[in-house]
Amino acid sequence: MTKTKRVYTFGDKKAEGKAQMKNLLGGKGANLAEMNLIGIPVPPGFTITTDVCAEYNKLGREKTIALLKEEVEQAVKYVETIIGGKFGNSENPCLLSVRSGARASMPGMMDTVLNLGLNDEVVEGLIKKTNNPRFVWDSYRRFIMMYGDVVMGIKYMGHDEDPFEVIIEELKHAKHIENDADLTTEDLKELVVRFKKTVKENTGKEFPSDAWEQLWGGVVAVFESWNNPRAEYYRMMHNIPAEWGTAVNVQAMVYGNMGKSSATGVAFTRDAGTGENLFNGEYLVDAQGEDVVAGIRTPQQITKEGSVRWAALAGVTELERKNKFPSLEECMPEIYKELFDIQNKLERHYKDMQDIEFTVQEGKLWMLQTRNGKRTGAAMVKIAMDMMKEGLIDEKTAILRCDPNKLDELLHPVFDKNAIQKANVLAKGLPASPGAATGQIVFFADDAEVWGNQGKPVLLVRIETSPEDLKGMNLAKGILTARGGMTSHAAVVARGMGKCCVSGAGALKISYKDKTLTIDGKVYKEGDWFSLNGSTGEVYEGKIGTKTPELSGDFGEIMVLANKYTKMDVRTNADSPHDARVARNFGAKGIGLCRTEHMFFEGNRIKAMREMILAKDETGRRKGLNKLLPMQRSDFEGIFEAMEGLPVTIRLLDPPLHEFVPHEEKNQKEMADELGVSVADVKMAVDSLHEFNPMLGHRGCRLGNTYPEITEMQARAIIEAAMNLKKKGIKAFPEIMIPLTGTLEEMKMQELIVRDTANKVFAEYNDKIDYQVGTMMEIPRACLIADKIAESAEFFSFGTNDLTQMTFGYSRDDAGKFLEVYLQKGILKQDPFQILDQEGVGQLIEMGIKRGRITKNNLKVGICGEHGGEPSSVEFCHKVGMNYVSCSPFRVPIARLAAAQAAIKESK
Ligand code: ADP
Ligand code: MG
Ligand code: MG
Repeated sequence: MTKTKRVYTFGDKKAEGKAQMKNLLGGKGANLAEMNLIGIPVPPGFTITTDVCAEYNKLGREKTIALLKEEVEQAVKYVETIIGGKFGNSENPCLLSVRSGARASMPGMMDTVLNLGLNDEVVEGLIKKTNNPRFVWDSYRRFIMMYGDVVMGIKYMGHDEDPFEVIIEELKHAKHIENDADLTTEDLKELVVRFKKTVKENTGKEFPSDAWEQLWGGVVAVFESWNNPRAEYYRMMHNIPAEWGTAVNVQAMVYGNMGKSSATGVAFTRDAGTGENLFNGEYLVDAQGEDVVAGIRTPQQITKEGSVRWAALAGVTELERKNKFPSLEECMPEIYKELFDIQNKLERHYKDMQDIEFTVQEGKLWMLQTRNGKRTGAAMVKIAMDMMKEGLIDEKTAILRCDPNKLDELLHPVFDKNAIQKANVLAKGLPASPGAATGQIVFFADDAEVWGNQGKPVLLVRIETSPEDLKGMNLAKGILTARGGMTSHAAVVARGMGKCCVSGAGALKISYKDKTLTIDGKVYKEGDWFSLNGSTGEVYEGKIGTKTPELSGDFGEIMVLANKYTKMDVRTNADSPHDARVARNFGAKGIGLCRTEHMFFEGNRIKAMREMILAKDETGRRKGLNKLLPMQRSDFEGIFEAMEGLPVTIRLLDPPLHEFVPHEEKNQKEMADELGVSVADVKMAVDSLHEFNPMLGHRGCRLGNTYPEITEMQARAIIEAAMNLKKKGIKAFPEIMIPLTGTLEEMKMQELIVRDTANKVFAEYNDKIDYQVGTMMEIPRACLIADKIAESAEFFSFGTNDLTQMTFGYSRDDAGKFLEVYLQKGILKQDPFQILDQEGVGQLIEMGIKRGRITKNNLKVGICGEHGGEPSSVEFCHKVGMNYVSCSPFRVPIARLAAAQAAIKESK
C-alpha cells in the first residue's frame, strides 16, 4: 500500500505542490507553492491537505495528530533549514503562522494565528537575535490575542467586546495614549501579563508555553473553524459543499512590525470596484497581519495616484497627505518597484486580476498570498473585456470569466439623477462597493436581520464590521462604516455580495449603546432614512428615488459577444407591455410565458370574473366572459405591439377558480353587494370551490375542458388582438399554450376549441395570421407520453415549477416547513425550486424532448419555470437541446450569458 501524502512543502523557489492542486491544497496553499515555482519570494512553509480535514472530522484530534506527526515534524525541519532558526528554541527561534485555506477563498471566515512558537524564554532569545525588544513584545502580545481568540475560543464566549481589546483600551486610557503605536515596550510587556491572566480567567487554563502544543492547537483550530457557524453560513450562501474541507498552511513568519523600514499590505492588480486597469492597495508601516483590513489605523495607499485620489475623497490636503499618509511609492520606492513588477508578473501568469498580500521586513519584500480577486459585477465585466482587448485572454475565456449571477448587480437600480441633485450630502466615506441603496439605519447585524426579514429596507451602520455580522450584512440593502479602508472587512465582503458599501466615513460618531448616529452634532436614530452611493462614497440624508439601469458600455459589448456563441434564444416571462419592453431592452427574443390570470385582477375585471364564476350555467358564464373579452384583447394588443412580431407564448387560464373569490366574510359581503346577489349565494359558491389539494385540483386545462367557453373567449381575445394589429401593419406571432396537460385527449380537446375559434375569427376578418398551439409540460405523465402529446402540440414549454412539485411530490405552498431542514441536514443539496434537479426532473425533461421529437422532429422546445434564468439550469437546457429559455425580465442578460457559456463549454 502506498503511503498517503498529507503534507506538501514549499520554499526557496521550490514546491511540492502547484496552482492546479487547489482541491487538495486549498487556494492559498496551491498558490503559495505556485509563487515559489515562478520565482517570487515567499516565506517557506508547508500545507496540510484538505483530505486531512475530512479525516479530522471522522477521527478527532489525537488520531489525526498521530497520522500527521512524522510528516509535520519533517516539514518543520525543512522550514528551519531554509530560515536558519529553530521552532521552539530560545537561542535561535523561528516563529510560524498557521493559516487556513479552503478550495474557494472564504475571506475572513477562517482564523489565522501569527507568531506561533513564542513563550517567555523564546521572547528573550528573539530579543537577543533582533535587538528589537519592542517588536518582540508586540509580537508576543499579538500572539496571545490571536491564539486566545482563535484556538482557546475567548472571542466567542459571549463577551460584548473582545476582552483583549478592553485591556488595551484600559491601558491606553490610563496612559493617555491614542494610538497602539504609542505603546511603549514596557506597556506591551504589561499587556502580555494581563492577557495571560485574562486567558486563565476565561478558560481556566494556562496559556500554553510549549511550541509544539501551540502548533497542534493551531492546526486543530483551523480544522474546527471549518464547521463554525460563520463558515457554515458563508458556504450556504455560496453553495460550497461541507465535504470540501480546508487545508492548513504553516509558514515561517516574516515581520512587518519591526520598525520604520517594515510594513504590511494588501493590493489588487486592478480596481476591484470599477475594473479600471490600475494597480492599487493599502499598507501600513510597522504593522502586522490583519492590521490593514481591521480598520484599526487609517491605511495608506500603495501608489501615488491612488493616494492622491484617496486624499481628494477623504478631504485630506496634499501637505497632510504627503506628511502623514504618503504612498508606498513615495515612502519605499525600491520596494514599490519590486512589488509593482511582481503584481504584473502574477497577473500575466494567472491571466486574471489578483488580490495579493505582502509584508516588508526591514527592507525586504515577501509575498504571502495571491488569489483571483473578488470584484463587483461591473469590474468583472470590464476586466474580462479589457483583458480580451489586451490580448491576455480570448473571447471565449472572456465570456467564461463572467459569473452570470453577478450580472445581477449591474441590473440593480441607481439613484434617480434629479432626486440626487436635490439630496443633502451628510458625510463622505470611501466608495467601497458600488451601487445605490436607500433604507432605514440600524446599528446591529442582528437588527438588520430582523428588520430585513420583515421586508424593511435597512442600512447596516457599524464602526466596523466583522465576520459575525455576515448574516445581517446579507439582509441589508447597504453597509456604512465609520472606520476601515477599501480592503476592510466591510468593503471586501460587500463587494463579494455585490452590495452597496461606504466605508471609513470618519465624520460618523456611532453610539451602539444609544443606537444613535451623530454627524456634525446632529443626532440620528435607529430607523431614520439614509441613502448611500457606493460608487462615490457619499452618504445622504433621507430616502432617494432609484432608477433602473441599462445595457451599455462593456456590459453591452459582452452581451453582443455572447450572442456570437449562444445557440439558445432567451425569452422573457412577462404579463404586461411594460415588462415586455424592459425585457426587450435586455435582449429578450420573445415572450416565453405570458400568464393571463394576472390580467383578471385589475380594476373591475375581477368583478366580471366573479360574475362568470358565480354563474349557474353556460349562458351565465358567457355573459361574464363577454365582459372580459375586450379587456383581454386590449392587453394582448399591448403586449404584441411591444414585441413587434417576436413570438409570444400565452398561457390559457391556469389557477383554480377559488383564487378569484374572497374568503373573508367582509369581502364576501362586498362581492354580494357588487353583483347584486345574496351573501349566502356567494358563500355557497366559495364553499363549492373549496378543494383539499387545489394545486392538484380543478385547474389548468381541466378548467378549459370543463368550461370550454373560457378557452373560447381567451382564444378569441388572442387571435382578434393579432388581427387588429395586422390591420395597423404590426406583426404578431401568438403561441397559444395549454396548461397542465397529462393526456393527449385533454390536449386535443383544447386544441380543437382554439382552432375552431381562430377559424371563426379569420372568417369574420376575412384574413388570417400564423399562430401555434402547444402545451406546457408540467405533469410527469405528459413527459412520459410526450410522443403522443406532440401529435397535437406544436411546441413544448417545460413548466418546471409544477413539474418539480409533482415529480418530488412537494407542494410548493407547504414545502417551506421541511425544505429548510432538508437543506441544513444535507438531504437536499439545493432547493429544487430554485436550481433545477437535473438528476430527477431533468430525466423527465430529456425524455419529454426526445419522445416529442420522435413525433415532430423539429418540435420547438423551451422552459418557462423559475429555472429559466438560473445559470446551471440554463446550461442543462442547452445540453438537452432546448430552443430557448424564458425568465423574468431582469434575468434575461444573466440567461444570455449562461447560454453562451453553455455553448462554449460544449464546444471545448
Ligand atoms: P485570511 O485568509 O483571512 O486572509 P491569512 O492566512 O491570509 O488569512 O492571514 C491573515 C494575515 O496574516 C494576512 O495579512 C497575512 O498576510 C498575514 N500572515 C499570514 N502568514 C504570515 C506570515 N508567515 N508572516 C507574516 N504575515 C503573515
Ligand atoms: Mg489572506
Ligand atoms: Mg404550472
